[in-house]
Amino acid sequence: MPKVVALPGDGIGKEVTDAAVAVLKEVAPDVTIQELLIGGAAVDAAGVPFPGEVEAAVTTADAVLLGTVGGPRYDTLPRELRPERGLLALRKALGVYANIRPVRVVPGLEHLSPLRPEKARGVDVLIVRELLGGLYFDSNRGRSGERAHNTMSYTVPEIDRIARIAFWAAEQRRGHVTSVDKANVLEVSELWRETVTKVHEEKYRHVTLRHELVDSAAMLLVSNPTRYDVILTENLFGDILSDLAAVLPGSLGLMPSASLGDGPGLFEPIHGSAPDIAGQGVANPAAAILSVGMLLRHGLKRSGAANNVDAAVSLALRSHPTRDIGGTASTQAFADAVLQALSTTN
Ligand code: ATP
Ligand code: MG
Repeated sequence: MPKVVALPGDGIGKEVTDAAVAVLKEVAPDVTIQELLIGGAAVDAAGVPFPGEVEAAVTTADAVLLGTVGGPRYDTLPRELRPERGLLALRKALGVYANIRPVRVVPGLEHLSPLRPEKARGVDVLIVRELLGGLYFDSNRGRSGERAHNTMSYTVPEIDRIARIAFWAAEQRRGHVTSVDKANVLEVSELWRETVTKVHEEKYRHVTLRHELVDSAAMLLVSNPTRYDVILTENLFGDILSDLAAVLPGSLGLMPSASLGDGPGLFEPIHGSAPDIAGQGVANPAAAILSVGMLLRHGLKRSGAANNVDAAVSLALRSHPTRDIGGTASTQAFADAVLQALSTTN
């Protein structure tokens, strides 16, 4: 029996994860779900943001479903006890090196997008971001006096493994990968481009590959987003492009994500703990429920169930919109609408 660990965390994390867990139980009744604390909730209960017991559970699970961590209540804690530290420790424990974010304008909800409806229609991009390398982690870094430096470096194996994830994802979608780099000025990007091309030629010739410079990709992602299927990029470029892309669907409450490595994957909404609405029962649980869809697809390899969840969420977004997307439905009412839609498709 597959085991999923659910970590609701803080703020609206609890509300949206409750809704997501209910959906997971509905579509995968054979899965064992173990619920544990992380972040501020774990600090309150156990004194640390990522207890050893949680580490042991997640590393032996088949997949991990996360809510959100953090909140103003924890901002005065010493740095090592901050909820965000728990999140970093979780990612590290799972060794996830690929962050995957689908950016989709829901058909019928084009009006939520900051793009004109004719530009927004049909936007469906998957951003595959390298998560453990590049500028953020290279040990060649430092400050002295009036000078500071960080280093963007990648090895061939690091590029190779993330490229394979992008091609593999494209195979299950529309079959196009755009690799984004800055090869006109950076040697590290030259190596990136050569390695991605090599993986393509060796194993994925049936997928199309295009290379783009990051500055041009940033512009096109906004001016002509339907040109993209899968975008593959390194850590810093991916950080920026994925937040840029996140505004296209119109609400943070619509955006799931997956972080994958060689062990259990981590599935979570991209939004934060939203202290301004936490505890009111009005948060949109769509991102958390769509994260269950990604968990089913990538973590448990159940794409049929994943498709059912995605379709049920699309229906509920139109029939029971929550406040962030211009409606009045509560978190619970939205979740009930998803469960209702699932019971008619199953
Ligand atoms: P963090 O630092 O934890 O990332 P943040 O302030 O950057 O927090 P969010 O917590 O995601 O970002 O909140 C940004 C805004 O979006 C808030 O006004 C919040 O209420 C709203 N928001 C975020 N997620 C949702 C959701 N699921 N449903 C409704 N509104 C949401
Ligand atoms: Mg934030």
